[in-house]
Amino acid sequence: MAERSKVYFANPRRTRLGGICEKIRALWKESGMADMIDEYDVVAVKMHFGEPGLTTYIRPIIARTVVDLVKDAGGRPVLTDTTTLYKRRRHTADSYYEAMKENGFTPETVGCPILVADGFRNNGVYVTLDRYYKLKEVKVAQVIYDADVLVSLAHITFHGDTGIAGTIKNIAMGGTCTETKLRAHSSDAKPKLVPERCIKCGICVRICPAGALSFKEKVLTLDKTLCISCGDCIAACPQGAIRVPWGMAQQTYRGVLDQYKGVISTFREGKVGHIDIALDITPGCDCQAPNDTPMVPNIGILASKDGLACDRAAFDLINAAPGIPGTRAEEIGALEPGSDKFKALFPSLDMDELWRLAAEAEIGNLDYELIDIEKEE
Ligand code: SF4
Ligand code: SF4
Repeated sequence: MAERSKVYFANPRRTRLGGICEKIRALWKESGMADMIDEYDVVAVKMHFGEPGLTTYIRPIIARTVVDLVKDAGGRPVLTDTTTLYKRRRHTADSYYEAMKENGFTPETVGCPILVADGFRNNGVYVTLDRYYKLKEVKVAQVIYDADVLVSLAHITFHGDTGIAGTIKNIAMGGTCTETKLRAHSSDAKPKLVPERCIKCGICVRICPAGALSFKEKVLTLDKTLCISCGDCIAACPQGAIRVPWGMAQQTYRGVLDQYKGVISTFREGKVGHIDIALDITPGCDCQAPNDTPMVPNIGILASKDGLACDRAAFDLINAAPGIPGTRAEEIGALEPGSDKFKALFPSLDMDELWRLAAEAEIGNLDYELIDIEKEE
């Protein structure tokens, strides 16, 4: 891909363009998102509604703004996400609907239907990939499969398996059914415990979605038969006492790239758009409740037709920013602007290698042009 992909960007400040919602409208216009939508198209707006107990997920007003833009373009929006692999509040469709309500998402507040994309029975359609790393078949969740257009509305956070959780992960892990999630995660490699660093705070035990961590005779113990290699404990531990073995991240990421390709393959060319909300950038993803405080200042909003370029631009902006004193950034020595926050948080994660895998999968372009719409005016 010779040409650089365009990534449109707006800072989070209130300026003459307005606040966050006005800037999303401006980014939508500048990035040509409306052009993806033909009249009466069903538009799946894929987002994460937040695990209950979290306070940093994408606000309903942001979802409502995107819903209104889809309607203005002639589309029929539906907000959607899938059930989770692990047993928490978002594990089944009925408890996920309750969780959404608790977090403020109802058809009345967002202005359109909200559907759990894989429903009550793990509903989806298998697609077969010609080129893949790990998953030849990917089961795409039904509501997303049925849609004409996909708009990914992703919250940017750090993530123990993929380094950054953004639009690629939102579409990949969040757009596929349970069995595909399991195969993407499954890895022989499990987190490595470093007992001498452990202060027995118990955070990892509380957040582990698989119940794989526990204290046995006051010593933290990992049950490898239960662990699904999600990486959440690695991001959560404030002491760096749980490390990601390189094989685990690399294996999971290969699965994520295949999932992404599988979901995207169900849409016609030019029918997928990406919005990365780089606000409240916490060390753990939105599956981890309660959240820790953000590590870097709010970065802003990014929009692009190229998901890889969009996530890469967010990654670069996070690394260029200073870390926030008194947060995890200070604990890991990542306060300086330009310091590699991802390397500092996940020392054994080789982000260069993960980006290389993504580029080789031909899912998008790492080379991007960042267009600051504030400066364009
Ligand atoms: S990677 Fe960590 S948080 Fe995830 S299932 Fe395994 S032990 Fe639990
Ligand atoms: S989060 Fe880290 S320090 Fe706390 S109990 Fe788990 S391993 Fe130990």
